[in-house]
Amino acid sequence: MTMHENNVIPYPTITDKKESVRVGYRHIKMINLLSKVAADIVEPVGSARIASCITFRNEVISFGINELKSHPFQAKWGKNKDSVYLHAEISAIKNALKIISPDDLTRSSLYICRVKFFDNTKKKMIFGLAKPCCGCFRCITTFNLRSVIYTLDNEGIEQL
Ligand SMILES: [Zn+2]
Repeated sequence: MTMHENNVIPYPTITDKKESVRVGYRHIKMINLLSKVAADIVEPVGSARIASCITFRNEVISFGINELKSHPFQAKWGKNKDSVYLHAEISAIKNALKIISPDDLTRSSLYICRVKFFDNTKKKMIFGLAKPCCGCFRCITTFNLRSVIYTLDNEGIEQL
């Protein structure tokens, strides 16, 4: 556990060495970075605090968080016509396309991290399942991102 600089709520980090070996340290490093970004979301959508980023040539080129903000790019990929609010991964892809070409995006990695309160005391945060919904999945497969890494409930990450 690491403490926020300006906040008392600790955000979760992956420290398990076996996990680093299994999925690769650079993936763990990105998820731990996103954990802080997600925990710092001031206005979560419901209880969902989800942060996403895209790396290209081992550099972070964009971030995205889920927010109560509609966007035409999200409307295109929403799982239904009512799904207009930006999902973190869609937002990260949208922002990445301002910097790199769709061709470069196919050589990029997408990371998605969800954090949630451990219980009602709201004194501790843990990881939550950040598997892309069917709308986001359609966007990911259309742009053909090289890899997608997301958090699982409690601990651990999964790679698509
Ligand atoms: Zn989604």
